[in-house]
Amino acid sequence: MIRRARWSGGDESLNVLLIYPRFPDTYWSFRYALSFQGKRAAQPPLGLLTVASLLPQSWNKRLIDTNVERLRERDLAWADVAFIGGMHVQHEDLIAIVRRCRARSLRTVVGGPITSSLPAATLECDHVVIGEAEDLIAGLAGDLERGVAHAVYESAERPAMERSPMPDLSLIRMRRYSTMTVQYSRGCPFSCEFCDIIEIYGRRPRTKAVAQVLAELDQLYDAGWRGPVFIVDDNFIGNKARARTLLAAIAEWQKAHDYVFRFITEASLNLADDPDLLRSMRDAGLSSVFLGIETPDESSLAATNKHQNTRRDLLDSVAIIQQYGIEVMGGFILGFDTDREDIFDRLVDFIQKSAIPIAMVGLLQAMPGTQLFRRLSKEGRILDSGRGNNTDCQLNFRPRMQPDRLIEGYRSVLCRIYSSDSYYQRVRLYLNRCRPRDQARFSMGNVRALFLSILRQGILGKSRFSYWRFVLGAATRHPRSFGAAMTMAVMGYHFQMITEQVMQAGAGSNAAAM
Ligand code: SF4
Repeated sequence: MIRRARWSGGDESLNVLLIYPRFPDTYWSFRYALSFQGKRAAQPPLGLLTVASLLPQSWNKRLIDTNVERLRERDLAWADVAFIGGMHVQHEDLIAIVRRCRARSLRTVVGGPITSSLPAATLECDHVVIGEAEDLIAGLAGDLERGVAHAVYESAERPAMERSPMPDLSLIRMRRYSTMTVQYSRGCPFSCEFCDIIEIYGRRPRTKAVAQVLAELDQLYDAGWRGPVFIVDDNFIGNKARARTLLAAIAEWQKAHDYVFRFITEASLNLADDPDLLRSMRDAGLSSVFLGIETPDESSLAATNKHQNTRRDLLDSVAIIQQYGIEVMGGFILGFDTDREDIFDRLVDFIQKSAIPIAMVGLLQAMPGTQLFRRLSKEGRILDSGRGNNTDCQLNFRPRMQPDRLIEGYRSVLCRIYSSDSYYQRVRLYLNRCRPRDQARFSMGNVRALFLSILRQGILGKSRFSYWRFVLGAATRHPRSFGAAMTMAVMGYHFQMITEQVMQAGAGSNAAAM
């Protein structure tokens, strides 16, 4: 254990500073879209808010999410110990924060998914928590109080979700975020080769009790939240029977609360096989679902163990879900060993026909700890542990396709699907199929977003003619979905900005490393 001069245990009322590192700008950050609404980040750090509830009540707690505010020297001066949590993609900023803390002799604890994918030694902190917090935090806190904390706290156990406490919302200002979050389950029954979720959280889905989830919705409602709520599960339908029970309870809750929440979640494509489940989702107010579609190439799906997406017409499956009024967001990957030269055109063609406006296309990353990483290590093809960012054109393994060709093809896909005309064409298809109904709530945030959209996209934007053609078409053909159409227009702005950044990123460095 590393001892610090300023505090080495014995005090039972510690000041703990929970710190959430910055995300780089990616398609997932939604940064450019959030600025229209005056929001600073998409979602609060749910993991750290849950850890806060697991810490002793007698401790003084503060949280700095560096995605929405600055971490100041006086924040660090206040703290006796810093708990820093995050994911692989936040690695760079996390290390910078740890170093700032160490420079002040502030004790550091690092936890979250990042500790399962990177070796403890590379995190440079005093204490590392590897595994799920529910099993580990009480022991760590007691040891910190007594001044006998170990360097590593690790548990391979997967605790029951019933033991997971309600997140401590008092530590954030909700209005800074566009979406609130609830976690209902962890784990996924499938076995995709590239997936780190099943390595961290297991293949047996664990769920919270219905009463726990409803209590979290009550907490959000009582705190004044109205708007989108992301059920951030790895796969919401990992246990379909339980998902059905929960959805029925949420539908009742929504009815009693005037349908104040709009739910978003993540699921697997076999959702399309279950009309009852789709009806239950719609009735509960679930309006968007993210699906890992990955590729239109059946041989790549089979090779990467994504068998749940094979032996089906992928476009039909997507359309079935959309017919229930549920928007589909899609995840796509380029760089599988079985990808051939025609994959780029095939993927663009698929996305354009899919009516999926929000198509997250990334280069394959071999995340440490995954089946893919193990296989490529054996084949001598791993270059480094990666950055967890699948849009920065940095491959961490040697692909079968020429790296230059792969990156060039990847960029060409992004250019084509996020050109204004292609994007608005998909949004029109989405509006036709899903017919989203706007909630009649008026807010100054929406007025501000509309004004800024007209200014940035309709007056100053390079694609203003496409924009006005889309806006006027939406106003006349989809007046009841006009709010949803404008939200999509603003999202398109974000995707176009990020695509420009990807185009500007250098391709040569990676190819040179091969
Ligand atoms: S379906 Fe999604 S969460 Fe489940 S194993 Fe595959 S990639 Fe992972």
